[in-house]
Parts: sequence; C-alpha cells; structure tokens
Amino acid sequence: NRRIVLAARPRGLPTPENFRLEETAVPTPGEGQVLLRTLHLSLDPYMRQLMDEVPPLYAPSSVPVGEAMPGGTVSRVVDSRNAQFSPGDLVLGNAGWQDYALSDGQDLMPLGRMAQPSLALGGLGMPAFTAHVGLLDIGEPKPGETVVVAAATGAVGSVVGQIARLKGARVVGIAGGADKCRHAVEVLGFDACIDRHDPAFAARLAAACPEGIDVYFENVGGEVFDAVLPLLNIGARVPVCGHIADYNSETLPTGPNRLPLLTAALLQKRIRMQGFVILDHYGERFDAFRREMDEWVEAGKITLREDRIDGLENAPDAFIGLLQGRNFGKRVVRVAEA
Ligand code: NDP
Repeated sequence: NRRIVLAARPRGLPTPENFRLEETAVPTPGEGQVLLRTLHLSLDPYMRQLMDEVPPLYAPSSVPVGEAMPGGTVSRVVDSRNAQFSPGDLVLGNAGWQDYALSDGQDLMPLGRMAQPSLALGGLGMPAFTAHVGLLDIGEPKPGETVVVAAATGAVGSVVGQIARLKGARVVGIAGGADKCRHAVEVLGFDACIDRHDPAFAARLAAACPEGIDVYFENVGGEVFDAVLPLLNIGARVPVCGHIADYNSETLPTGPNRLPLLTAALLQKRIRMQGFVILDHYGERFDAFRREMDEWVEAGKITLREDRIDGLENAPDAFIGLLQGRNFGKRVVRVAEA
C-alpha cells in the first residue's frame, strides 16, 4: 500500500520535499468497514489550504504532518464487512492520496455503472456542482448580461462559462495562455477569452466587456480581481468561490491600501458579493444539479475536459502544477486500472 503523506508544511508554493511516499501494509476492514482500492484521485486547490498549520474555517482540521494527504477518490470496494457494500462496487469516497483505505461507509456514494467514473470527481461532481450553485443561485445571470470567469478552462470555470452560455449570457473567460484561451472560445463556446499573462491584460479585458460586467464568478482574486473591479456594473453579482492567487501567500501584498476602492465600489454600484462553501449545499441541491448536468452532458451541450496524470507517485508534482496553472482541465490522477 503506497501512500503520500505531508512530510513538512510548505512555506509559499509547495515543493516535492513537502511530500513523502511511504509503503505500509494494506489495512484489514473491521466490523462495519469496507476496504477501498483507489482508482482515481482528485487534485483540488483546497488541499493547499489544508496543508497549513491553521485550517480554513470550512474544515475541522488541517492535515497532520506525517499523515496521508486527503482527497476525493473514485474507489473500488475490494473487501466488505458492511452490509451496504459488496466487493466490486464502485464508489465516490475520500480515500486520499493512497492505494488503499478503510471506510465505515458513511462518506461513500455508490456510483453504479458510469461510462467514465472519473467524471464523478469533476464534471459530474464537486467542481461542477460548485459552478452550478455559485453561478445560478448567487450569480443569477440573465439573458444578454455579461458574465466573466477566470481559471476559465479549469474544473469549475469551464462549467461556469458553459452554463452561463446556456442561460443566454455573454461569457468572457480569463485563462493562462493562448492555448487555453483558444479552447475556451473554440471548444467551450465562450464569446471571448483573455490571457491573464498578457501585459495588456486589464485593457484587453475592458475591451472584451464593452457593456461592463454583470456577474463576476470569483475563482482567483489577485490581479485579475483588480482588473475586474472597475468594470463591474451597477447591480453586479460576485459569487466568491475561490482566490487561488493568494493560497501560497504568507504575507499581505505591499503597496497602498486599496480597501477604500472596494468599499466605495460595493456601495455606489450596489454590488452583491457573496462567498459560499459547496459542502453546505449537498443536501438540498445536489440531485437537481446532477439531473440537469447529466442532461446537458448527454446532449453535448457541455464539454468536459479531463487532465489525467498517471501514477500516484506523480501526485505531488501534479498538485504543485495545479497551483501554477499547469493543468488544462480537471486534474485527476489515475492510481489503478478500473
Ligand atoms: P482549476 O482546475 O481551475 O485549476 C486552478 C487554476 O487556477 C489554474 O489552472 C490557473 O488557471 C488558475 N490560477 C492559478 N494561480 C493563479 C493566479 N495566481 N492568478 C490567477 N489564476 C490562477 O481549479 P478548480 O476549478 O478546482 O478551482 C477553481 C477555484 O474554485 C479555486 O479557487 C478553488 O479553491 C475554488 N473552489 C471553491 C469551492 C467552494 O466551495 N467555494 C469548491 C471548489 C473549488 P489559468 O492558468 O488558466 O489562469
């Protein structure tokens, strides 16, 4: 049983030294437990926050040093002492960065037969659900309005933009690099996409939004938000989903305090800016999301791009790359053959 543990807490961007690959015995399930074999491991930006000493408010604790990195997985039940699960069952679980894990079954969701089970970690799972709730319940896009989303080809952003198009909005993406921008327009159907590395990024974004921005789905924060703020319209909605530009920062940025600019914009433009944590919404909202999303994907109205990495041993590099924009689509590690 291979597992990747947190070897040391990172300072800034994690390095390979923050992780360690260990070999342990395959655990044996006790009464009520199942033994899971990991097939696919999801890599997600929130994992960076769990590596810090002080956990984010939405998590009960951070990862203890020396413990396996946590993570959502598609797993196969290989042994069961729980009447609800049989060997061979495919489940969505939280086995983390390891080959095998035990579960009491409470956190498992049966997947039945899925053509592409790894989609349960991306386009039919948590990231797409995040896009659906944040955009529709908080962003409330109307036909003809302009919706802007960054990390536009990523797990959440790609779905935000495509749903916004389905709702009749004009969609402008922001992504890192020409290839991603081309994909956003040509494959995902965005109206425009601006490269955040372009020296003239702010001016190009303004030019792509001649009627201002009605919904800004906030995935990244940082310099992108600086460029967006002056373009927001009166009555704009800003679902605050993530701010990945800050996840590796240990100190506040230097320079003048621009908080008054934000406060004045919020007030004068009557902007509604609302954070949300997707964990809060599963009970009342997941089934409706899955029904609608399954339909859209089946009908070819939404395209999902998976960025697959082979081998558990490559998870640390793949995760560090995710935090730097080296992923192109939903990043998933294939740990074992189905
Ligand atoms: P992505 O697949 O979008 O991957 C992360 C992307 O972020 C990178 O590919 C890169 O895209 C972009 N990025 C990285 N660093 C920066 C930076 N400094 N400035 C601007 N962009 C940057 O990840 P997810 O779709 O899984 O997550 C997107 C966001 O949603 C994250 O902030 C995440 O924390 C948040 N999230 C929040 C949830 C909630 O419950 N609130 C649930 C799930 C996700 P590029 O190089 O193309 O710009």
